[in-house]
Amino acid sequence: AKAAGRGRVECFTSELGTSQRRRMTLERELREALARNELVVHYQPQVDLQTWTIRSAEALVRWNHPTLGSVSPGEFIPVAEDTGLINNIGAWVLAKACSDAKHVLPGLRIAVNASAAQVQRAAFVNELRSILSRYQLSPEWLEVEITESLLMEDVNSAVENLHAIKELGVRIALDDFGTGYSSLAYLRRFPFDKLKIDRAFIRELMTTSDARAIVRTILQLAGVLGMDTVAEGVEEPAQLDVLAHVGCHAIQGFLVARPMPAEELADLCRRWESL
Ligand code: C2E
Ligand code: CA
Ligand code: CA
Ligand code: CA
Repeated sequence: AKAAGRGRVECFTSELGTSQRRRMTLERELREALARNELVVHYQPQVDLQTWTIRSAEALVRWNHPTLGSVSPGEFIPVAEDTGLINNIGAWVLAKACSDAKHVLPGLRIAVNASAAQVQRAAFVNELRSILSRYQLSPEWLEVEITESLLMEDVNSAVENLHAIKELGVRIALDDFGTGYSSLAYLRRFPFDKLKIDRAFIRELMTTSDARAIVRTILQLAGVLGMDTVAEGVEEPAQLDVLAHVGCHAIQGFLVARPMPAEELADLCRRWESL
């Protein structure tokens, strides 16, 4: 019985071990990542469908680790959120994005993702203000992307902070729209400038009539509330056709470009303009 028990324990620890060890490694390495300059920010353009111009881009953080290779933000951002490292990483991304917006990508509005934990802190608005002034960037060139989960956690402080961000002159986008639970009441309470339609609906645009109806409804809703719309994850020309037809304002996705370094996006914008 003892041997069997030991066997079970071993089996248990080695199974749990793989993902837990990975997580502990990520956590340990992530603490050093900023100091070692392992994080970089890439930018993915958003194309305005009325004018077919690039007006804005989303900043997406990348982690290139010397031995782990490139770790996706989908994996390390949750670790950063759980450990509180997200505040340091988030502030670094914000500063890098403002610097690039000022020096490498002037004329593009840069959207930066913010985790709920960042935006919920009262200090966030002051951080935003001081980063903008440090880089001498006019607030209109910055947009903060938040997801619906933020709205669910602590509604009152979220409302307050978002209004303070808005008063700074920074724009606010609601990310992954349609995947959470926002009600119409929520949408009215929060000062969103833009709705980003989640990739899940775009992916099914051509195959299910539901997705198409939902996208059309989101666009109508955004229209009534005076918000801009961006479709995320546009990969195929057919999706673009439908989105243009139903009046979506802008698209973002591999069809136009993958996320890339700021200098490459600056090149793309120059070529784009001379088309
Ligand atoms: P997100 O904010 O929804 O970002 C869009 C994700 O979709 C990005 O993945 C982007 O590379 C990917 N994508 C763009 N176009 C297409 C397409 O046409 N097809 C497909 N299949 N994917 C596309 P990425 O860069 O791996 O980021 C994943 C998530 O990590 C982001 O989702 C965001 O939630 C989070 N994230 C990234 N950077 C930051 C950051 O600086 N701060 C915070 N808090 N979160 C971040
Ligand atoms: Ca986003
Ligand atoms: Ca998104
Ligand atoms: Ca997402």
